Amino acid sequence: MQKLKNAVFALALATVATAANGAAVEHLTGFVDVDRQLALEASLTKSLSATELAAWSKHLSAHAHHAGSPYGKENVQFIAELFRSWGYNVEIEAFDILLPVPKERELILEGPSGYRATLIEDILEEDASSAERAEVLPPYNAFSKDGDVRGELVFVNYGIPEDYEMLERYGIDVTGKIVIAKYGKSWRGIKPKLAAEHGAIGAIIYSDPADDGYARGDVYPTGPFKNSSGVQRGSVMDMPLYPGDVLTPGEPAIKGTRRLEIAAAPTITKIPVLPISYRDAEPLLRALGGEVVPLPWRGALPITYHIGPGPARVKLKLVFDWQRITIENVIARLEGATYPDEWVIRGNHHDGWNHGASDPISGLVALLGEAKALATLAAEGKPPARTVIYAAWDAEEPGLIGSTEWVEKHRLELNSKAVTYLNTDGNGRGFVSIGGSHTLEGFFNEVLASVIDPQTKVSLAARRRAMLSVTGDEKQREELESRKDLRIAPLGSGSDYTPFLQHLGIASANFGFGGESAHGSYHTLYDTFEHYTRFRDPGFVYAVTLAELLGRTTLRLANAQVLPFRFTGLADSLKLYLTELEALAEKKREEAKRNNKLLENNAYGLALDAKKTLGAPKALPKVPFFNFAPLQNALAHVEDSATALDKALDAGDLGNVDLVVLNRRLYQSERALTSTAGLPGRNWYRHQIYAPGFYTGYGVKTLPRVREAIEAKLYDEVDHQIAVTAKVLAAFAVYLEETRALIP
Ligand SMILES: [Zn+2]
Repeated sequence: MQKLKNAVFALALATVATAANGAAVEHLTGFVDVDRQLALEASLTKSLSATELAAWSKHLSAHAHHAGSPYGKENVQFIAELFRSWGYNVEIEAFDILLPVPKERELILEGPSGYRATLIEDILEEDASSAERAEVLPPYNAFSKDGDVRGELVFVNYGIPEDYEMLERYGIDVTGKIVIAKYGKSWRGIKPKLAAEHGAIGAIIYSDPADDGYARGDVYPTGPFKNSSGVQRGSVMDMPLYPGDVLTPGEPAIKGTRRLEIAAAPTITKIPVLPISYRDAEPLLRALGGEVVPLPWRGALPITYHIGPGPARVKLKLVFDWQRITIENVIARLEGATYPDEWVIRGNHHDGWNHGASDPISGLVALLGEAKALATLAAEGKPPARTVIYAAWDAEEPGLIGSTEWVEKHRLELNSKAVTYLNTDGNGRGFVSIGGSHTLEGFFNEVLASVIDPQTKVSLAARRRAMLSVTGDEKQREELESRKDLRIAPLGSGSDYTPFLQHLGIASANFGFGGESAHGSYHTLYDTFEHYTRFRDPGFVYAVTLAELLGRTTLRLANAQVLPFRFTGLADSLKLYLTELEALAEKKREEAKRNNKLLENNAYGLALDAKKTLGAPKALPKVPFFNFAPLQNALAHVEDSATALDKALDAGDLGNVDLVVLNRRLYQSERALTSTAGLPGRNWYRHQIYAPGFYTGYGVKTLPRVREAIEAKLYDEVDHQIAVTAKVLAAFAVYLEETRALIP
């Protein structure tokens, strides 16, 4: 480690007009020599080639390459060889994990009519990849338990909590029944979890054409949407509890680690669950009787949707091969010339469900392009100041397994050295989206201002602003005026940033383009090179833009003399979240009051139609007034210390500060937002600001302790959770003050 004594910095105020795009006046927080950095970025941009990205994509998505598959292993060697040829120090890090694959899948409508679900996706003449059968995994949900169940069918809409509340009003109980739910509105793993909690013995999930089939647009191969045979595969592991290998929670799945018995693994589903196409779902839904569904539950199949239960009766039989497989992450290092012990980590997974041209290869080829460009710079004598680590993760699809096991294995080293983690996954055409740590919000905005959108020729930031000013809600439009930076989204879960951010408190972000290439190929047999190049990103135009965006982001974080962490943006978002919580409590209070009053007056009873199908809702528990004061006070403290620290960092004169010490304080600041005790009932999740929802899955819950207590109507716990969260924020404020004290 090297101690630098740089007397005077003209850091944050350094600006330069860029000729490159003629538009933006660039502002590079943390750099002394802005011109040098911009020149590096310009040569990075110049060296990116759509033709090269397309060739890698074609190769990597030529065959099915799910975790443990032969072609997956070939891809690992191919990726490792590319990195080696560019001069990276490459390691293939293996883990032994549990991954069930289907041996038997059977779904039969046994009455009143008969139908055996085909459970296969059609081969299409127009898509040669769809003809591959040998290595292709059939449609299934990974980490469903085995089962052989028979029962009456019940339609549960999307199978989310409010749907079960509605069923209760209809007087319908799913105990002992098999539910059929639509994909959408929640992460898929929530559907069997809730079904089991309500007593169901099996679950079927299908994609309704209203959501990503013919009601949205032409279906594949005519258009990009789901055809009648397409099935979304995917994991149903209980990831909101912990992701990664189901048998080794919190520990790396390597030799010597104690493993749970399969029967004791808490993240395997409690009931069997199978995904099917709308072609297979239609006869089942047609056979349902009982009440007609409420209007918002209707899909786009040519039937009248009924809830059931019955008279449709189905048999669902699933047998899995519970195999232990070896998964392989490719880890490629480019040693930092000045700060080798500070790591900027950039990752994308390499395993797909099938061919995976979009998910994950479209993001992976961008990563490869960036890595090659950085290596070229290094070979020209311009290596990054910090170490850059590129990671191609295995087994993301079954449950973020490769990244989680790696993070658990290298926990201590990552805790001290990891500066940031930057993630991408499937990519498409359109508008940029960023979710991530708000400590880097200002920095990300700077990068967005310096990358040009290939279609409109304005900056990514300008295009996103234009989009929000047209399609954003009132709040978003108002913020475009009142706020300097575009607010980045908080992260829930759904890709490999989760272990970095939510387990270790490493500032992280997830990037992608989309919005102009809606499709139905996600996790189906049709996520192929053919589909991708026709509908998702013809010409690999946005793959190159993604590489430029992430290349610049990585290079800036790797080279900044002072890392561009800032804290007033975070304080502002925390304030927003607190306001949301107060509004949520108020809304619940009003709802309960109104609901209970209507019950008292028997308004529901009087309003019922002759059939009296819809019963009155339950009486709701009274919502007390919560004491938000500890959070308000802690937040005021955070605001003050954030303002003071940002001001000192922005002042430009850092005096004799030891940059190694200051930078470490800055990049470890996110750790101070975690607590080793974790979240209630799920101690793997340590971040106290961002978490995936316990009952939404991918969807984020900010200030999760408090928000989830209110949402779950655990009103007795709310004040306690407020106090615990306030303590974390108060300690964070002190951390910022101590950091401020380093600067004279
Ligand atoms: Zn993916």
